[in-house]
Amino acid sequence: MPGIFINGEPVDTGEHRTVLQVALANGFYVPHFCWHPELSIVGNCRVCLVEQEGRGVGIACNMPVYEGLSIQTDSEPVRVQRKAMLEFILLNHPVDCGICDKAGECTLQDYHYTYNGETARSHDPKLRSTKFFPLSERIILDNERCILCSRCVRFTREISKSNVLGMEQRGDSMLVRPVEDRTLDDDPYSDNVIDICPVGALLSCSFQYQARVWYLEPTPSVCPGCARGCTVNLWHRKPEWRLNALDRRENTRILRVTPLENPRVNGPWICNKGRDLGALIDRPRADRALLKGRRVSTKEAIDAARELILEAKSAVALVSSWGSNEELRAFRNALGDTFTCFVKSDSEPAENEVVEDDLLIRADKNPNTRGAQSLFGTDAPKFAEDTDLILIWGEGVDFGSLPRGVTVLFLGYWLLPENGHAEVFIPISVQTERRGHYTNFEGVVSAFEPCQPRPDGVIDAETLFPLLAAPPGSPA
Ligand code: SF4
Ligand code: SF4
Repeated sequence: MPGIFINGEPVDTGEHRTVLQVALANGFYVPHFCWHPELSIVGNCRVCLVEQEGRGVGIACNMPVYEGLSIQTDSEPVRVQRKAMLEFILLNHPVDCGICDKAGECTLQDYHYTYNGETARSHDPKLRSTKFFPLSERIILDNERCILCSRCVRFTREISKSNVLGMEQRGDSMLVRPVEDRTLDDDPYSDNVIDICPVGALLSCSFQYQARVWYLEPTPSVCPGCARGCTVNLWHRKPEWRLNALDRRENTRILRVTPLENPRVNGPWICNKGRDLGALIDRPRADRALLKGRRVSTKEAIDAARELILEAKSAVALVSSWGSNEELRAFRNALGDTFTCFVKSDSEPAENEVVEDDLLIRADKNPNTRGAQSLFGTDAPKFAEDTDLILIWGEGVDFGSLPRGVTVLFLGYWLLPENGHAEVFIPISVQTERRGHYTNFEGVVSAFEPCQPRPDGVIDAETLFPLLAAPPGSPA
């Protein structure tokens, strides 16, 4: 690999082939808008300027490395030209940071303060353009803020391959637009363009005007939407910015979901279903145990469940493929010998959902089928003629399809009519209320952390299973 010099220091280029890649990999920051590690190089923002010894200033994103190359990333000529480029980019930009959702995460805002910082010299009015152009039901485009870096266009061509976006017209009239009469609704990965847009031109309809990003913090988690198990960040209010005037749930609500980069699983992308995880978690929560539909304490429900388990002659457990590795192990250790266990699918593809593709989306819509099957086998659920007790853990079971007269012990999360149809219902914690791990379809184990309080009356499944295995009357 060729050795080059950056700011006088010898650096190893490794596998990298361009100056920008080598600089970033070795801790020399070079600002950039249009370059993205997963997209092709276009070199149109002209901000990643560096000075090449003996050759002057040029863009680093497509400058090839060769033995002995000597680069300055912050020389006076670089600073002057970079500043001029930022001034040019800001010429028609509205600088409406005060009402822009990207403020606090906008690279144009950051670069302006770092590399320019001057007020505008132009006295000409800024060009006006479309402010709220709907690209889909999920994404709004503000053309005045767009700096024409073309990242969004390249994403739809090179990554999601929907080819929905293009550029029309030229010069300062140039616009990002959908191709012909298409919309980004056709692209199940469309929301990634919101993340990679370096400015606030592409906005999420569900997140727009919901919060300033500096009031939020991310919790690392795993999308349970399919067996890929993409790692994600769940964004919610920081505890120190909790608003007493808000409903308690509002202070802990998941306001947006973004990818948590993971080269082994999802790279820097997730699909739109993963973005909607907040809505999935926001469903009305079950927080009281039921005995034949009657509200009881969790202790009473656990005692009743113990009696059922003790009296059962042939008990079947339908184990959740949404259970964490820790919960699954706890179930096997505590109750694995008491029940005949089958792994069930908690979730099936929804109507109009992309079932499977070549990028990320998997046909199995459960996050931990592999982890569950490694402990309980791959047989499809079946019931013997004498099955008299069925433990249902999680979603996905049609109660009407169960053998008639069988007793049901149901461990669930949401307020559902089925809760009252079970002999005993015990509410258990959801993914955002506990920590754990899922094993994805390729065997990669990823961790998730809690970011919401567990409601009173709800118990962690990992705690519950040993309690269910204890004799009736034991402490619960
Ligand atoms: S909308 Fe954003 S990502 Fe697309 S070209 Fe404009 S600035 Fe770049
Ligand atoms: S590909 Fe699967 S795991 Fe990844 S974000 Fe989409 S639904 Fe979630």
